[in-house]
Amino acid sequence: MKVFNMKDLLLEDNPILREPSELVEMPLSQDDFETLQEMAAFVMESQTKELDANGDKYRPAIGLSAVQLGILKQMFVIVTTDDDLDLFVMAVVNPRIEKESQNLISLTDGEGCLSVQSVDSAKVPRREWVRWSGTLVDLETGETARKTLSKIDGYLGVVFQHEYDHLAGVLFTDITNPKIEKEPAENV
Ligand SMILES: [Zn+2]
Repeated sequence: MKVFNMKDLLLEDNPILREPSELVEMPLSQDDFETLQEMAAFVMESQTKELDANGDKYRPAIGLSAVQLGILKQMFVIVTTDDDLDLFVMAVVNPRIEKESQNLISLTDGEGCLSVQSVDSAKVPRREWVRWSGTLVDLETGETARKTLSKIDGYLGVVFQHEYDHLAGVLFTDITNPKIEKEPAENV
């Protein structure tokens, strides 16, 4: 079982972060499944622990794409809490945004990224909602669920778009815009 640490993260000047990720072969291999589990564990730990196993300081994260660990595969995880503070984990494979709102929003406090150290946070224009197709993976059972035109919006929608951009080699610093001030319609 792999364990990811801060030193495994690719940083913004690494050209691999600019490469498009490849489609993940389905059905999901055990190896890819374990990578997703470890990615989620890494994000979870970054929110709850000060230091990783190497003694390096965590920067708290919400989302993580495989390419940030040098794995050029179309998969990412989002780990956050819902309104009741229950853990919410989303593991996404081969997503494709099919539809998007005309309306733009951006997070009040801006976005940051584990792979970007030069900019702490910045406002990024995002779609108020998107509809995506792809596969959701249950990280406990390994079950996969095919999604078609699944809607995601608000805070989660912004995180989703941030991670989705990573799969195309795009960093949030490519599209920052300080003029967008409107807050997301809902927070998670
Ligand atoms: Zn990022």
